[in-house]
Amino acid sequence: MMERELHHRDRVGVQDAVLLENYTDEAEFIGNLKKRFKEDLIYTYIGQVLISVNPYKELNIYTANDIKAYTRKHFFEVPPHIFAVTDTAYRSLKEENLEQCILISGESGAGKTEASRKILQYIAEVEQNGKVKTVKNKLMESTFLLEAFGNAKTNRNDNSSRFGKYMDIMFNFEGDPVAGNVLSYLLEKSRVIRQAPGERNFHIFYQLLSSGSNETLEELHLSHKLEGYYYLTDGEKGKLKYIDDHGDFKKVKTSLDTLEFPEDRQKEIFSILAAILNLGNINFHTINEKLKVRQLELLETVSQLFGCNPESLHNALTHRTVETTRDTVKTPLDYDQATYARDALAKAAYDRLFSWLVQFINRALSPNDYRKLLSMGILDIYGFEIFDKNSFEQLCINFCNEKLQQLFIELTLKSEQQEYENEGIVWHKVDYFDNKIICDLIEERHKGMISLMDEECLRPGDSSDLTLLAKLDKRLDSHSHYISHKKADSKMQKIMGRDEFCLIHYAGSVTYNIQGFLEKNQDLLYRDLREVMSNSTNTIISEIFPAAELKSKKMPDTAITKFRNSLNVLLTILTEKQPSYIRCIKSNDNKAPGYFDDQLVQHQVQYLGLMENLRVRRAGFAYRRIYEKFLNRYKSLCKNTWPNYRGDPKDGVHELVKSLGYSSEEYGLGKTKIFIKHPQTLFKTEDAFQAKK
Ligand code: ADP
Ligand code: MG
Repeated sequence: MMERELHHRDRVGVQDAVLLENYTDEAEFIGNLKKRFKEDLIYTYIGQVLISVNPYKELNIYTANDIKAYTRKHFFEVPPHIFAVTDTAYRSLKEENLEQCILISGESGAGKTEASRKILQYIAEVEQNGKVKTVKNKLMESTFLLEAFGNAKTNRNDNSSRFGKYMDIMFNFEGDPVAGNVLSYLLEKSRVIRQAPGERNFHIFYQLLSSGSNETLEELHLSHKLEGYYYLTDGEKGKLKYIDDHGDFKKVKTSLDTLEFPEDRQKEIFSILAAILNLGNINFHTINEKLKVRQLELLETVSQLFGCNPESLHNALTHRTVETTRDTVKTPLDYDQATYARDALAKAAYDRLFSWLVQFINRALSPNDYRKLLSMGILDIYGFEIFDKNSFEQLCINFCNEKLQQLFIELTLKSEQQEYENEGIVWHKVDYFDNKIICDLIEERHKGMISLMDEECLRPGDSSDLTLLAKLDKRLDSHSHYISHKKADSKMQKIMGRDEFCLIHYAGSVTYNIQGFLEKNQDLLYRDLREVMSNSTNTIISEIFPAAELKSKKMPDTAITKFRNSLNVLLTILTEKQPSYIRCIKSNDNKAPGYFDDQLVQHQVQYLGLMENLRVRRAGFAYRRIYEKFLNRYKSLCKNTWPNYRGDPKDGVHELVKSLGYSSEEYGLGKTKIFIKHPQTLFKTEDAFQAKK
């Protein structure tokens, strides 16, 4: 119990940071997390917000008994736990008919995906009803499948999600999960063709190659040898002891079956994967001053796997047709352009296959009837990123975090204000940093970075990364959150290069390198290749490269515009729900069990904005409790309320605090709750209670 734990605060710290004496003191806040972490207490609250510190070891706190212990309990009567958050959200959905969303944030490796798993586990076990078992299975299987295709081993995390995910679980009026829906964001498709040292391509490639059945592999023109594939040779080579690709492939097959992917669709999926691997091995050379594919046999293989015509593919890999208003011109590509085209095809095919999978899963999870369903959404999305070198992808991700932070500020402040209003308590508005100014800097129409980037992408002629940078420098010069390399002074921690700019995000300043921005934003796949693919006999390929796309005269949206649009849809969804927040923190960079790296944690506390969160939460009153509960616990401390108070509990509490000597500005009496300003006041009362017991 919260009250019981108040007494042990020296050893295990406080379980709600609002009870810290110096709540503005970052060191004290982190010290509290550390104290708890050392006792394997990885969860701590800031009010209703759950902080989770990754222990990097299995803790025995997620059993069926633990689930029971948190079912139908009042949030503050049980120690902090992800099950408490889930149960509270679930009950609010079921009993008050309010739609929910659980927002999980934190950097790579902080434990977001594990957290979303625990939420699913809780949901799956809390209601036991045979009828919905298949839906739960499908939800679990779809998670596994998406991880096979969308996760990879990185240096930060062996099972790192390389896409953002929002999953709605839909419940019927009995509170049983009956359907689901997944939205995915920004798959890191560059990984298909290139990986950093020590990292791997997406899991599914290794799983397929270690699937064991020679027959399957032969059919797909694949061999077991990982080093035979150019797209797999950049990073971590060979097999990893701690990843069971062979076993996981079997699970992928089970998932595909459970989700009722027809056998021929499954074959087509594997065929596309094999096509991509083989495509990566294609090279070019020049014969009679013409660029040709070097390995014609391999080209045959790739064409067969993609279900397309080999001559057409050859042509499309080495030429480009440009349509002007008057006529069409076909120009040969040079070596670099052809290599670029090859890689662009591999990336596009994989990316679109992934989207297709998501769509198929959604059909498998879709309800018979959307009416009368209430949903609980789980958002597991990349946290703020500051690397040594930051590029277009980091800009997208950090923009996403700015938007989510805005929602967070709005919602926590709003709910805090709402509570005081409901209770009729006077409070003074707290100042906080509103990051809308940064969101505007990025997304404002015609003026913001996205508009400027798109302008430069669409501008014919000599546009390049550097002309884009010049444009940004010129147009955003006066903005207080944009720093041009020309203006960077000694205050900047890092000297900026001439191809860099810096944004001051709410979480800190990030220097971005402009190289590759235009290309990544334009995300070009030559029309010739799209045309070949749209004629494919592989039904998935012809579906994901629709012929209709070729007819459209409209320029396709750029990558960042697409991302912004999907983000805004997401925010609309989230705004309409009751939010719960889980803020994940990575304890150390070495995946070491039980090790707490103070500096690393400090960094995350800063960019998750936790101190700000705490400040807002403490702006009014640190502690609040329903009259009955407060009275019940402390009634023995006042002769007028002991052994029983017969009147209105509010009057009883009033009697009680007067006799305890609370000063009048120290507490507030709302409609249903007492509010106490300083935790010390409460501690004193608790100590008196313990002494008397
Ligand atoms: P993220 O999704 O934030 O990148 P993950 O959820 O994949 O991070 O977690 C990375 C690793 O950390 C997991 O594979 C697991 O080993 C460990 N981990 C995360 N959360 C927990 C937890 N609650 N208990 C034990 N280990 C955890
Ligand atoms: Mg993850």
